[in-house]
Amino acid sequence: MTDDQRQNMPAEAEIPTRYGALRLHVFTDAEGKEHVAAVAGEVRNQRSVLCRIHSECLTSEIMGSLKCDCREQLETALGRIGQEGGVVVYLRQEGRGIGLANKIRAYALQNEGADTVDANRMLGLPDDLRSYKLAGRILQDIGVLSVRLMTNNPSKISGLSNAGMTVESHEPLICDVDGLASGYLQVKRDRMGHLLPGDWRSPTL
Ligand SMILES: [Zn+2]
Repeated sequence: MTDDQRQNMPAEAEIPTRYGALRLHVFTDAEGKEHVAAVAGEVRNQRSVLCRIHSECLTSEIMGSLKCDCREQLETALGRIGQEGGVVVYLRQEGRGIGLANKIRAYALQNEGADTVDANRMLGLPDDLRSYKLAGRILQDIGVLSVRLMTNNPSKISGLSNAGMTVESHEPLICDVDGLASGYLQVKRDRMGHLLPGDWRSPTL
């Protein structure tokens, strides 16, 4: 196979997982970063597809950090689509988009008493650099017509809508939170507009 032939071959395959069979589609962005859509069941030309847009969190998902609940959210979302069908879009945008090194620098400041929002500001970084344009394009590429979004973050709903993907409805992603992450979640609620399970009210788009 030539380089050109390989480049033109879709990067997708079904793999067995603890959540059931998932079809992984890999998308490479302009910077060369590889993002993944994990699909369970049939989503092409479907409406109201159960969907989670998840941003990479190496510290939680790989290292077992208890500073946030990303690993639990990812596992809960994969479990849900494994049972009900749907898609998890996994975006390689560590630390709300600031990158791993800056995230670790921010943790060092937090260890000295700053909260997650203040730490980013002290480093001269915005609160949240994540872009959902890419997620919208990935969902369109795999043929999803509209989504039922699992999120506790209202800005994700508008971000995805602005990216051209219809959000038919949304629902909270509830998972068990370890005590150590609860302080971080309080800051996300109080300073970044996230909703915790007890805060959730009827959907407003
Ligand atoms: Zn995290």
